[in-house]
Amino acid sequence: MIIRDKENDRYSRQTLYHKVGCEGQEMLMDSRALVIGVGALGGNIANLLARSGVGNILLVDRDKVELNNLQRQLIFDETDIGKPKAEVVARELKQANTSIKIEGRVMEVDASNIHELIKEVDIVLDGTDNVKTRFLINDACVQLGIPWVYGGVVKAEGMTMTIIPKTTPCLRCILPNIPEPGSTQTCNEVGILNGIPAVVASLQATEALKILMGKEPSKGLALINIWDRKMEIVDIERNQNCQSCGDGAIDQTASADCGGE
Ligand SMILES: [Zn+2]
Repeated sequence: MIIRDKENDRYSRQTLYHKVGCEGQEMLMDSRALVIGVGALGGNIANLLARSGVGNILLVDRDKVELNNLQRQLIFDETDIGKPKAEVVARELKQANTSIKIEGRVMEVDASNIHELIKEVDIVLDGTDNVKTRFLINDACVQLGIPWVYGGVVKAEGMTMTIIPKTTPCLRCILPNIPEPGSTQTCNEVGILNGIPAVVASLQATEALKILMGKEPSKGLALINIWDRKMEIVDIERNQNCQSCGDGAIDQTASADCGGE
């Protein structure tokens, strides 16, 4: 039940926005979101979703907080070093919003548990740091018909795309096969500025809110470079022969075995 007193209602500034309103807010409060990986991207996403009032949030991550994370993973502080990220983010966000249910699970996401994790959520948010896990998320979400929002960041660059299975292009429509290990750049090798995950996470979280409120998601692959202050939307077509969402579909879950950030 939403308190409609503007000063006492924690969501008043959000419901005032005409695209949300009280109806949209109630839909958010009835929604379940899964954030896989709660580092720079996922931590920002989880923060935004929790404060927006998404009623049920599950966070998964296998990693512990390290000193070099603090530069861009805004939810952690020095006292969190060595603690499991999923537990710290859940603890912080429970304090930020006691009216929602939020759970942090310290675990590795792999082919054996992905279906169990995603089957009861309304949306999956990609906060991972590797392509293999993204393919795992893609294939499982396409199989179960669950929307997911892809996000990736490195250096000053980021990408995001919203995937509505069998309606919009999926990750394998763009990239049919998982790239070889070492063929894609990682933050560990080429670095990252802290502004880019904040931007991409904001785009991902807003897409999630739209989908959870039954609104039309944005189309295309968004490419952002915060150093050059550029953003471009690339039109992507569904690949009718896609191995995940098209006529060429095969069961991919057996070939993927990897974890979240
Ligand atoms: Zn596809």
